[in-house]
Amino acid sequence: MSVNDPLLAPMPGADHREVGGVQHDVVRAGDGRVKRTIYPAGFQWQSHMKGVVGTELCMHAHVGFLARGRIQIRYPDGCTLDLTAPQAVVLEPGHVGSVVGSEPAVLIEFDFEKDTVSRFGLAGAHRH
Ligand SMILES: [Zn+2]
Repeated sequence: MSVNDPLLAPMPGADHREVGGVQHDVVRAGDGRVKRTIYPAGFQWQSHMKGVVGTELCMHAHVGFLARGRIQIRYPDGCTLDLTAPQAVVLEPGHVGSVVGSEPAVLIEFDFEKDTVSRFGLAGAHRH
């Protein structure tokens, strides 16, 4: 990881937080937010975030762009989704994710906090 790598470098002016080994840089944009999230290699939502968040599954919707790395998403019905950069990402609430491979995954996201599902007009849960 080089500090000269713009996908990983510190973001001046962003609100930086680290939760469960995951780095978040957040910038406000009107009613919404632009976020860069860096998930380290070896990250597993159930191991690293479940205890912090306190829910069985990640209940956030995610809309954005996977700029680096690989993520596997699992829904409670057994469906899986393999995401590999570069790839657009649209995830309904109610999933778990893990980083695949030896490099961190970098996700650029847009959200409206608790209103993300309604503002994007997403399904409130995974179904088909
Ligand atoms: Zn399914």
